[in-house]
Amino acid sequence: AVVASLEQCEVPTRGGTGFSIGRSESGGATRTLASPDVALCRDCREELRNPADRRFRHPFITCTNCGPRFTIITELPYDRARTTMADFPMCAACAREYDDPEDRRFHAQPIACHDCGPRLALTNGDEVTATGDAAVRGARALLCEGRILAVKGLGGYHLACDARNPDAVLELRRRKRRGDKPFAVMARDLETLRGLVGIRAAEAELLDGIRAPILLLPRAGRRAGEGGARPVAEAVAPGNPDLGVLLPYTALHVLLLGLEEDGGPDVLVMTSGNMSGEPIVTDDDRARTVLAHLADAWLTHDRRIQVPCDDSVARVVAGGELPIRRSRGYAPLPIALPFDVPPVLAVGADLKNTCAVAEGRYAWLSQHVGDMDDLATVAALGDTVRHLQRLTDVTPRLLVADDHPGYRSSGWAREHAAGRRVRTVQHHHAHVASVMGEHGLELGETVIGVAFDGTGYGSDGAVWGGEVLVAGYTSFRRAAHLGYVPLAGGDASVLRPYRMALAHLRSAGLAWDDDLPAVAACPATERGVLAHQLDTGFGCVPTSSMGRLFDAVSSLVGVRHVVDYEAEAAIELESLARGVAVTAPYAFGLADTRSGRTVGSGGVVADPGPVVRAVVADLRRGTPAEVVAARFHAAVASLVTALAVHERRRSGIGTVVLGGGVFANTVLLESAVDQLEARRFRVLRPRLLPPNDGGLALGQLLVAAAG
Ligand code: ZN
Ligand code: ZN
Ligand code: FE
Repeated sequence: AVVASLEQCEVPTRGGTGFSIGRSESGGATRTLASPDVALCRDCREELRNPADRRFRHPFITCTNCGPRFTIITELPYDRARTTMADFPMCAACAREYDDPEDRRFHAQPIACHDCGPRLALTNGDEVTATGDAAVRGARALLCEGRILAVKGLGGYHLACDARNPDAVLELRRRKRRGDKPFAVMARDLETLRGLVGIRAAEAELLDGIRAPILLLPRAGRRAGEGGARPVAEAVAPGNPDLGVLLPYTALHVLLLGLEEDGGPDVLVMTSGNMSGEPIVTDDDRARTVLAHLADAWLTHDRRIQVPCDDSVARVVAGGELPIRRSRGYAPLPIALPFDVPPVLAVGADLKNTCAVAEGRYAWLSQHVGDMDDLATVAALGDTVRHLQRLTDVTPRLLVADDHPGYRSSGWAREHAAGRRVRTVQHHHAHVASVMGEHGLELGETVIGVAFDGTGYGSDGAVWGGEVLVAGYTSFRRAAHLGYVPLAGGDASVLRPYRMALAHLRSAGLAWDDDLPAVAACPATERGVLAHQLDTGFGCVPTSSMGRLFDAVSSLVGVRHVVDYEAEAAIELESLARGVAVTAPYAFGLADTRSGRTVGSGGVVADPGPVVRAVVADLRRGTPAEVVAARFHAAVASLVTALAVHERRRSGIGTVVLGGGVFANTVLLESAVDQLEARRFRVLRPRLLPPNDGGLALGQLLVAAAG
């Protein structure tokens, strides 16, 4: 249960005594809420281990307090008949528990046991090699041998292998063509995890709680002989100081990681069963074909998965949760809205897509859908919208999408308008409105919205991403932005940060000298083409992207020149800066265009040139990369504060909203919050929704509904 609001009123007594649970009536006007999936509870865990219990080692053990919900519900109200458990008629013993108000399984819709529940099967692609408990034991034996297993979970198939076996992990990485993108690992228990990562109390609570997300945590100090535990293979998260970790959240996971301390694998790589970028596989037939070249065997079962749902990802910052991907365990919990909205559908953006429907005072954000560069993901968006509408009974009259004319999500909205109005919203305005919305800011309020991300379509056609917007729900004014540099060749410059480094060097008036790691990383021929592009503007779009500036600095200090996924270079730069005390931060150049010096469009322009020149000077002085990284982070935090102070002096606004994917950077977020609070600003940061584009849909629908 979530307390969304509290009000007191007198309720007249209507008479009647006693307590009963009535039969559900479908088609009524009342809106029942679908619950997210809930991680296996302690009681069920005990029974799973108890040889005397009738559900000893039952892979589908659940009760009223735990188990699948969202991923098995086909329609509301939530009753067994409207879930994928409808395929499994209850046995007499389960039916007795289900009907007994004294029982922990009273009205537990997914109730099951060895006699009546779903069944496990281990297959090698051609035939079933084992069933039931033998399937689990067979799967464990394969993991011991270093094999890769497709495992059917709650919201889709995972690929699993022994995380301590370097050959197995490398092989999985090779087959999945995953580049360096880190894998998450699932460990047998909290104790095992403590051998791998540092865990604080708030983090342990989240890992072990009802949502059981993947948490990004710093690796434990790898001192020799520490408890004799072997670390996970380097290939799990190459070069990454953090590890994404989670605990078993279903009985099947508990069994797979071993109830008994018998020396089998106690840490497994658990990564989505798909090729990178495609939606997670849920269908058994598709799993056998799509995962055929990825898995050696399949541990599967005969309960259908109604909707795909990836594992959620989060970090903990200053004691509070910072969602990175809001999916299993969270979706489709509603978000309470600060004002009434008409029935509306917002389709989000093209990266990390999620969509949302809303009506009245509630919005429902979907699970993580994926990146729209894959056509299968565009199809998945349609399925997600349909299912979300069915669960919430919202029939949208208004559709909302991003301003970007080329976004596939926006195209999907236009194609599916069917006579309904389609409104588009500026990307960074939506980022700011999203954070305002989750904090319950009301319709007339105005904030200083700091939206820092990798890319978003700007009102002037440029690629925005380092924006300070004075914004309410209905409108915004661009109060400040990062100075424009040319972005040469879009995606090429995202995947090759050295190109951004060279663009920033040129904009800062610095020569491309070979002693600079970023320059050395750029092949000579590409350097020539790039110079020509930057000189003529051919194939270039001006950008104020803060994400790209992080990429550029990462390459300048020699941390990362080429990436496999967006923000990889920035993530490594952040980890370098962590824990380094800063004495002399760099400073951006600030020019108010209203006072004459005009660069870009309107407001204050923050020139990155002085920062880039200071970075290069430090490099040539032999300053360690850690110190450069820390000084850079401090400079960005100080920039946020300086721009907020400047705007407060001008308009008197005292609330600052921090949004956009760059604020998934905890070093930056913590120091920006500290500095702003020290200057007595009210600071609002994302807590319920991700700061990245995964949280955008809420902002879109609020802006559209506000007028
Ligand atoms: Zn339970
Ligand atoms: Zn049963
Ligand atoms: Fe964004």
